[in-house]
Amino acid sequence: MKIYNTLTGNKQEFVPMTEGKVKMYACGITVSGEAHIGHAYQAIIYDIIRKYFEKKGYDVVYARNYTDVDDKIINKSHETGIPADEYARKMIDEIDGEMRRLRVGEPTVWIKATECIGDIISFIEKLIEKGHAYPTEKGDVYFSVDSFPAYGALSHRNLEDAANGVRVENDELKRNPLDFALWKSAKEGEPFWESPWGKGRPGWHIECSAMNYKTFGESIDVHGGGRDLIFPHHENEIAQTEALTGKKFVRYWIHNGLIKVNGQKMSKSLGNSLLLKDLLERYSPEIIKFALLQTNYRGDINITDALFPEAEKHMAEFYRVFAAAEEKGIKIEGANAEIDAEFDKAMDDDFNTALAISNLFGIFKSVRAKIAAGDAGAGADLNQIRKTYSLLGLFEETPSAFLSKIKKKEDAVPAEVIKLAEERAKARADKDWASSDRLRDELLKMGYTVKDSKEGYTLEKKN
Ligand SMILES: [Zn+2]
Repeated sequence: MKIYNTLTGNKQEFVPMTEGKVKMYACGITVSGEAHIGHAYQAIIYDIIRKYFEKKGYDVVYARNYTDVDDKIINKSHETGIPADEYARKMIDEIDGEMRRLRVGEPTVWIKATECIGDIISFIEKLIEKGHAYPTEKGDVYFSVDSFPAYGALSHRNLEDAANGVRVENDELKRNPLDFALWKSAKEGEPFWESPWGKGRPGWHIECSAMNYKTFGESIDVHGGGRDLIFPHHENEIAQTEALTGKKFVRYWIHNGLIKVNGQKMSKSLGNSLLLKDLLERYSPEIIKFALLQTNYRGDINITDALFPEAEKHMAEFYRVFAAAEEKGIKIEGANAEIDAEFDKAMDDDFNTALAISNLFGIFKSVRAKIAAGDAGAGADLNQIRKTYSLLGLFEETPSAFLSKIKKKEDAVPAEVIKLAEERAKARADKDWASSDRLRDELLKMGYTVKDSKEGYTLEKKN
């Protein structure tokens, strides 16, 4: 199987450090707010990659972290009046619950930053001993970028480019503006831990290095994260770990693309963040996964208004094929090795879920033809589809359960239609015929006819 490695800039055959085993880490979530679709996407991608390694027979240890102390969390704590640790705990509980609803598998190891402060401190102490880090008189500790000549190898930039590409925190006590904080001294009212450099808390980058070192030791096979983390976060992880161990930290760096909403970057300030809990209210996990996995994980995903409704339409079409087979009395049992082999061929090529999903259209076309011809082979195909594509989280429901949910949604009258109908009823009661007529026309435009009777009114959807 081939994996695109950001470090080398090409697809490489996957060879683990130890035969049959994969050590894998993916940067997790900073719990300074609710989970949005970007978090969900990342969780889905690395869950699938992990499951595919397992399908290939590897014994996988997959670790993820929760950043539960940082500037944004502290700001949230000040805004809400909830202590930072309590706020972080509450967010972690919520996000865990939403990820379970999304049916994302649990990593083998979950680590929270606040649970390895001791490991982080001893990591930093060793970096200072080796001359790769230095404390300042204010009680901060910085990594010295000049002490690590390979800095920039992952993002393919030299120090000068790097200096232009990053907004650096100003501190005249830094030896090089690119030096980054390993330990931050605590300001008044901030959570802190005691350290050899005074009261403070870890910087963000050191967390991932220390957690990896604690969980796996010097080296891992696969490290994942969003493409926006390549620089500086992952560059800094490499510098910290390799400066400490003198060994290569990560063999394969995997970076997923970013999510855009209607062509724009998703951000809180633009108010276009799609929260996972809202999405789960509207779409089943299968629809969300189908929609997102149609793009190869390295590509950016542009979420348009049509993306999820289209995915829902396709999934409903597929489930109708299962229902049609059942109706014809075709037993959904047996296997079709070819369907599984095609899937693996796609996934062996850098986890090409886009191809695996587009294969479905051809497969279902042939299954439809088999059902029409009364060919029992359709049952084997469908059973295989269910088995093979469960790796992507698809076809886990019964056709009747899936299709009845869609039907309910189609039949449901939208809230804005009900609101207009209520306004119209009030206008009629007030004998305001002009408003009543205007509202009737508006409802018509939205596809609803309203019928009045002694008991009130009924709404009918036009077809
Ligand atoms: Zn990280």
